[in-house]
Amino acid sequence: MRPVLFISDLHLHESRPETSDAFFRFLQTDASRAQALYILGDLFEYWVGDDQLDHDPLARRVADALAACAGHGCEVSFMHGNRDFLIGPRFANAAGLSLLADPTTISVGHRSLLLLHGDTLCTDDVAYQQFRRQARDPLWQREVLSKPYPERVALAHSLRARSDTEKATKAEDIMDVSPIAVDAVFREHGYIEMIHGHTHRPARHVHFVDEHECVRHVLADWHNEMHYLSTASMIGTAALSANSLAPT
Ligand code: MN
Repeated sequence: MRPVLFISDLHLHESRPETSDAFFRFLQTDASRAQALYILGDLFEYWVGDDQLDHDPLARRVADALAACAGHGCEVSFMHGNRDFLIGPRFANAAGLSLLADPTTISVGHRSLLLLHGDTLCTDDVAYQQFRRQARDPLWQREVLSKPYPERVALAHSLRARSDTEKATKAEDIMDVSPIAVDAVFREHGYIEMIHGHTHRPARHVHFVDEHECVRHVLADWHNEMHYLSTASMIGTAALSANSLAPT
């Protein structure tokens, strides 16, 4: 069985061509040979509506490259991040991918995996959670999408500037996941293995929740080179290790 790959937090933008190039290389090589690719949010630095495909040449190139990868038999899925939550069906169609809800549970072989972007775990960041509620409100989204394209790009820039200022003043641990939120999510989803991004703190954590050994993989953000998690190299919990040793 071909491996399943997970990526997030590429923050693609024309100002970082090395990262885009790494992504295009990844899609032509490792991703094209994979069974499936899960993009767990923040593929783009910002997304202001699917008409970005008409205005932003990089957006079009990314959609075409994803569609080519899907054409090689790799099933591509995308979950919204906090930067590209306005990605909609037109982009999905152009890129040949499926949109996933956050969170989503998948099965890979005998393994159950819980996929999230990761921002919902950062519950100590009250200001961000407030913004998230607003940004996910269909009414707010409709209102934003009705604005002219340049106005939406300006809005994206101002949100980014605001988040940069806030990041500089917020305590480090406020921007990481809340241990209480992590425990609650493991409990709610039957203690299955979790994969998320968002915090840019790549790691494999082992949590003990209600006497269950729970594994949480945090994906890396991209700077000039590819980073992905593959089911071919993932080590599961003790109970799953027999399966993870089998070729996936
Ligand atoms: Mn994020």
